[in-house]
Amino acid sequence: MRIDLHTHSRASDGTQTPTELVEAAVAAGLDVLAITDHDTAEGWVEASEAAREHGLELVRGMEISTRHEGHGVHLLAYLPDPTYPPLVEQLALILRGRRGRVPAMLEKLRDLGVAIDDQDVREAAADTAAAGRPHIADALVARGVVADRTEAFDRFLSWGRPAHVDRYAAPLADVVRHVAGAGGVSVIAHPWGRSRRRRPDEADLAALAELGLAGIEVDHQDHDPETRDELRAIARNLGLVATGSSDHHGAGKVDHELGINTTAPEEYARLLELAAAAAAAARRSTPEVVRP
Ligand code: AMP
Ligand code: FE
Ligand code: FE
Ligand code: ZN
Repeated sequence: MRIDLHTHSRASDGTQTPTELVEAAVAAGLDVLAITDHDTAEGWVEASEAAREHGLELVRGMEISTRHEGHGVHLLAYLPDPTYPPLVEQLALILRGRRGRVPAMLEKLRDLGVAIDDQDVREAAADTAAAGRPHIADALVARGVVADRTEAFDRFLSWGRPAHVDRYAAPLADVVRHVAGAGGVSVIAHPWGRSRRRRPDEADLAALAELGLAGIEVDHQDHDPETRDELRAIARNLGLVATGSSDHHGAGKVDHELGINTTAPEEYARLLELAAAAAAAARRSTPEVVRP
């Protein structure tokens, strides 16, 4: 069983439609795929239809933009009821923050003498409610300013670069609680990734486990082998599920091909057990795993 629990479609900043993502997962030999777009469930319906059609097991999830002690933390939420009001409210705030930031970044680019068209950004972000830096990067590529997203981030968009603008992210502890309230389970994404300026240590992760965190994404391209070993040991100590995934973004991110990291079947089984328990406790109408 090949299981990839973290991928993006055009519903956020991936470059494939949900259908193309499912088809690519089948072509890559995956048995289980989770669709986890940033801050939105918009891709779920199309992905579910495609998964049924192609006989792929699909887990509906999302990757929520949170903040913890001043630092950005990406939280993967699996199988939550996307209509749970506290979750809806936080996602709406995040999406509003995303929309507000786009003109501010275009303004900064203009000040740098890089005039890209609002229309280019609108086109790049046409399929998403979660407009972000990757879509501005795509507009810069379309205008020939940079060769690819990586160059756009390195020159302009990464934290500390001249066109970077911060945005709203939801308090991590609240989101962990809301995901549980929505009958889903949360897994901290790439906790020791390159882009993080401070790593949550074992004590931080233990505190999050107390709040209801179910797992840690251990096998991720941002983690080197030593990091993975350390995180796996922490997951074991804390009784957390250890996942592995590609964080695939279609053509939007190199070295993140589908299935490049995978989740062990027994870890996936534990995650689903925890999700079933969370759904029963929350008494919400949660999405089922789509099974072939
Ligand atoms: P935003 O959500 O608008 O803050 O943008 C963050 C997203 O940009 C992340 O989810 C990544 O998928 C993407 N990203 C960050 N750094 C890079 C990079 N160097 N190359 C391509 N994509 C990146
Ligand atoms: Fe992304
Ligand atoms: Fe992420
Ligand atoms: Zn991701």
